[in-house]
Amino acid sequence: MGFRDECGVVGIYGAENAAALSYFALTSLQHRGQESAGIAVSDGNKIKLRKDMGLVSDVFKQGHFETLNGNIAVGHVRYATAGGRTIDNAQPFMNSFKNGSIALAHNGQLVNHTKLREMLEDHGSTFSSSSDSEVILKLIVRKYIENGGHLGTPNEEENNSELNQQRFVEAVVQTAKLISGSFALCIMTENMLIGVRDPNGIRPLCIGGFDTPASQALNHRDGGQFILTSESCAIDSVNGRFVRDVEPGEIVVINKDGLRSIKYAEDKKRTCIFEYVYFARPDSVIDGISVQEARYRMGEVLAEESPVDADVVIGVPDSGLGAAQGYARASGVPYGMGIIKNKYIGRTFIAPTQKERENMVFVKLNAIRSDLEGKRVIVIDDSIVRGTTSRRLVQILRRAGAKEVHFRVSSPQVKFPCHLGIDTPSKNELISSNHELEEIRKEIGADSLAFISLEGMKKAFGADSFCKGCFNGEYPV
Ligand code: AMP
Repeated sequence: MGFRDECGVVGIYGAENAAALSYFALTSLQHRGQESAGIAVSDGNKIKLRKDMGLVSDVFKQGHFETLNGNIAVGHVRYATAGGRTIDNAQPFMNSFKNGSIALAHNGQLVNHTKLREMLEDHGSTFSSSSDSEVILKLIVRKYIENGGHLGTPNEEENNSELNQQRFVEAVVQTAKLISGSFALCIMTENMLIGVRDPNGIRPLCIGGFDTPASQALNHRDGGQFILTSESCAIDSVNGRFVRDVEPGEIVVINKDGLRSIKYAEDKKRTCIFEYVYFARPDSVIDGISVQEARYRMGEVLAEESPVDADVVIGVPDSGLGAAQGYARASGVPYGMGIIKNKYIGRTFIAPTQKERENMVFVKLNAIRSDLEGKRVIVIDDSIVRGTTSRRLVQILRRAGAKEVHFRVSSPQVKFPCHLGIDTPSKNELISSNHELEEIRKEIGADSLAFISLEGMKKAFGADSFCKGCFNGEYPV
């Protein structure tokens, strides 16, 4: 089985307590991955790394921050499918030399890592994991050495020299041109932080600053503070200030001279639309589009496309709530809460077997009888993947006395597995890839069922620069 990582990344530059800030940022990216967490931090001379399986709050305890001192850091949270669920694949990855180190955190998935790994192994590289992200790290190392870099030099002055940094940046540029797929990267050396976004910008990556006098403007030359991260909600969590997104095909280099941008490839923007549908937090803004606003709009268009007479509109928490509010707003049907979600359990996808997944829904979601009894209910979810959640939900709503259950979905039918970083099951498990609409309606037991159309989705966003491969099978890479 190939890799299907869903991840969150962060990079901090110039802050006194870079590891602690990374901890806060990773906690607000926890929805992007719950299996492992890690932070690498540099004090200017040495990089230290701590990573382990579990939630951010499981991996890091108070005492750890006393040793994780330094002002440059990269951090990572990871969600992986069963095959890759080991500590070996936890990030950041680190490569140490005699007198220098690199740490790297990757969100995304490469499509050419097998070939690159073979090439690197032929040239003597060794790997400690099966992760495609380690291939990126080792490729940078190789390019750096080829460029005449001196990470192994015993002379610290030379290690920090401009030339050395330039060689390293050049190695990152060369690597970014060789790898293909989706990648949002935070990379650090002892004295530099680098962000990289793939030419399609499939996974998000944005830049924040801190409102200290020294960091009010970009490109100042006397030491600013920056954060790079998957989602803007993580910038808010450290009381930072959103500056801008890293552009598709852009590398940003942050060092003592400030922030410098390198365009290494043409911007062929195709951001993953599923980030807006399901994955990202509603308080994040990705490429200028508010995730919550996108969800409202998808709900509104869904109401225009598939209206139905009903007494109440409810949403499946959390990712269906925005669309439900949009649907209610556009249809005039009153919005109700209707369903409550247990805050203390993880995502249903984590349950390894189908049986466990099905029963997890009863634990995770319940109906509020007083909102629903005797009513015709429109229930909105953001997506149907296997159909497990929707089938159980209809059961739960009927059990609570709903007279009719009309299921509406604010994304089109998921027909194709994603190979660019969203965890979707194989094609034969995707209910929409092998069933017609009416069959799915019967299967989930709803009185009616409708999905937003691909056209409708385009209308909701007012743009078409997205990867919609899971819906239409057309992937940019
Ligand atoms: P399913 O029960 O397999 O049909 O999954 C659909 C439900 O899972 C919806 O409520 C979605 O909000 C949620 N979902 C969609 N995509 C993912 C994903 N990649 N990981 C975890 N949950 C997801």
